[in-house]
Amino acid sequence: MHSGFFSEQAVAVPGGTVRYRQDSLFGFACRISPEREKRTPVQSFIPASASFKCPFCHENIMEQTPSFSDGKKLFIGESVTFPNLYPFSGSHIVTVITRLHNPAEMSVRQIKDALTGQYEALMRCDGYPSINWNNLPSSGASMVHPHMQGISDQTPAYAGRIFIEKSREFMMRYGCCYWDGLREAEARSERYISGDEILWCASPVPIGEKEIRGYLPFSSLPDFDSYIPEISAGLKKIIDYYRSCGHFAFNATIRFDRQDNDGSFRSFVSVIARINPNELSVSDSAFMERLHFEPVCMTLPEKIPLMFK
Ligand SMILES: [Zn+2]
Repeated sequence: MHSGFFSEQAVAVPGGTVRYRQDSLFGFACRISPEREKRTPVQSFIPASASFKCPFCHENIMEQTPSFSDGKKLFIGESVTFPNLYPFSGSHIVTVITRLHNPAEMSVRQIKDALTGQYEALMRCDGYPSINWNNLPSSGASMVHPHMQGISDQTPAYAGRIFIEKSREFMMRYGCCYWDGLREAEARSERYISGDEILWCASPVPIGEKEIRGYLPFSSLPDFDSYIPEISAGLKKIIDYYRSCGHFAFNATIRFDRQDNDGSFRSFVSVIARINPNELSVSDSAFMERLHFEPVCMTLPEKIPLMFK
């Protein structure tokens, strides 16, 4: 079970075992306590909203969403791509995946078209891009209507910065790519799920429930295009697996290095299940908090003392 890529300390506690795991290079840590599943049994939940209409619905999307500076939106298949009305990134792009507000299923084709929309829009942006997906309000999505969000900034968000910086240090120190060795070890491990060129594996040090990673054979966005069909098929399999476990909400991210890179970092897909379905509120933990480790806040701290008065 162990490899040099992570460490584990198992501690016996009343009723079970807590496994403390830490990623060796990046330092991310987690605690795995299988017994806690008894405490929070998984409840399936799909919002009942068949007749509900939102700004992302087909009949509203042209009027109620913004357009790019050329006055246009991007249409790929049934997906529609446009800038975020409430951005928290220098470039913040939304892709609505489906015409239906709350489809029972999403097809590989729909995911592929949406990823292509994100790819085409993000290719026009500078910086460190990522493609992200909060699915359902309990994952932090403000809209039930399925959508992806691309962001790109001059500095990657916290987790991405660690992945990229440590990968560069590793390459400089050992003269080889960290991700080649990791892929080799994970392909032989009991966490391997499927794939070869794109390697799908359960993450040894999960940063969320049932985290699955898809290790990609490239570093930056220009190479993403030709792998979109296979990545879409992989995402669909993960979504189906989560649903079979009762998880309909999830967060996903695909991280990329900037275009002029040294090849030391490799892109990867990361998907986590969300386990507390809630019909009445939108979770305040979404992809930024859960997968990028960089919280998005609304209130300027300097304003808070004034609000006390
Ligand atoms: Zn809608």
